[in-house]
Amino acid sequence: MTRPTERTIYLDHNSTTPLLPEAFEAMTPYLTTHHGNASSPHRFGREARDAVEVARDTVAVLIGARSSEVIFTSGGTESNNFALSGVLAGASGGRAGVVTTAIEHHAVLETAEALGRAGNDVAVVGVDARARVDMAGLSGAVGAHTALVSVMHANNETGTIQPVREAADLAHARGALFHTDAVQSVGKERIDVKALGVDLLSLSAHKFGGPKGVGALYIKHGTPVARFHHGGAHERNLRAGTENVAGIVGMARALQVAHEDMDDCRRLTRELAGAFVAGLERRVDGVRINSLEDGLPGTVNVSFGGAEGESLVLGFDLEGICLSTGSACASGSMEPSHVIQAMGLGDDLARGTLRFSFGRGNTMADVEETLDTLERLVARCRKRAGTG
Ligand code: PLP
Repeated sequence: MTRPTERTIYLDHNSTTPLLPEAFEAMTPYLTTHHGNASSPHRFGREARDAVEVARDTVAVLIGARSSEVIFTSGGTESNNFALSGVLAGASGGRAGVVTTAIEHHAVLETAEALGRAGNDVAVVGVDARARVDMAGLSGAVGAHTALVSVMHANNETGTIQPVREAADLAHARGALFHTDAVQSVGKERIDVKALGVDLLSLSAHKFGGPKGVGALYIKHGTPVARFHHGGAHERNLRAGTENVAGIVGMARALQVAHEDMDDCRRLTRELAGAFVAGLERRVDGVRINSLEDGLPGTVNVSFGGAEGESLVLGFDLEGICLSTGSACASGSMEPSHVIQAMGLGDDLARGTLRFSFGRGNTMADVEETLDTLERLVARCRKRAGTG
């Protein structure tokens, strides 16, 4: 049930973000009058091609890449599939192994599993109680047969930022390539592919105010990668399919705005998240904060003993507040999230885990209202469960 006349509070920015007006404005001509196919030789085609290439230059500059190193995709899921499958299919010298971590997005983990079923070696490294990757474990897992190491930049559930540079250096020292899923970081953190030392990096427009269904994969020059989609010669013959011109233009504009506003937005979301955590600790008993202060700004992952995350999210929704659980509800299962499980939280805490992700447009009034609601809902949930 939605209550359109009442105010809603959106605290689910890690799930997706509202489209920025600037992105919408930049996209509009390519959804209406400028309808050309970027591969067509005539004026409509040339206009579309110019727009795609300007967008490519913009995205490249903002992540420290060269334009020819940016391949447009349909989003983070495709970029991750492309990175893992493309590198393994293009690997030589007997390298047929993938090393990744237990807290990656399903787009990485399930691709790795599929590669495992196809005969590749797959190793999954664990994390500590704050979702930090076990670097000694990573070092032990990467060997002479490893083709690719994939470690995400920031975790979508906890906001934990991984030591990507260190992990990339480790992979390179053993002759392996390195990919990072930076879907949650691009637009919120300053990302420079050269400083990070990565060979491949995934990003997705809808996480930073761009449209859904468009993203990019950075592929460092000289990286051997097999083509992903088969068909036309689009995207340097690596990813066939007519380019989503409007989406690509919207993504580039959104990334520009995200960079212009980044310092203000980071300050705001850190302040809101800090006030929220302080209020939580003051007002609700039996709380475990799973996110780190120096993680992705605005991400607060918290477990409540004796309360069911699903019931809390539904209760919040009825009160006009939108957020996520730490459950894998997208797959229809009520299993606690693989991230929370990998962090070693007990079943009770894992089931009572919520993710609040603050973003542009949230206010201190949102924090106060959410805390009031939370105090009430947790007490009610625990009373019903006989735990409070
Ligand atoms: N990787 C991470 C870390 C994510 O958070 C997400 C989205 O939730 C994805 C990949 C998938 O991106 P997309 O929704 O663009 O397919």
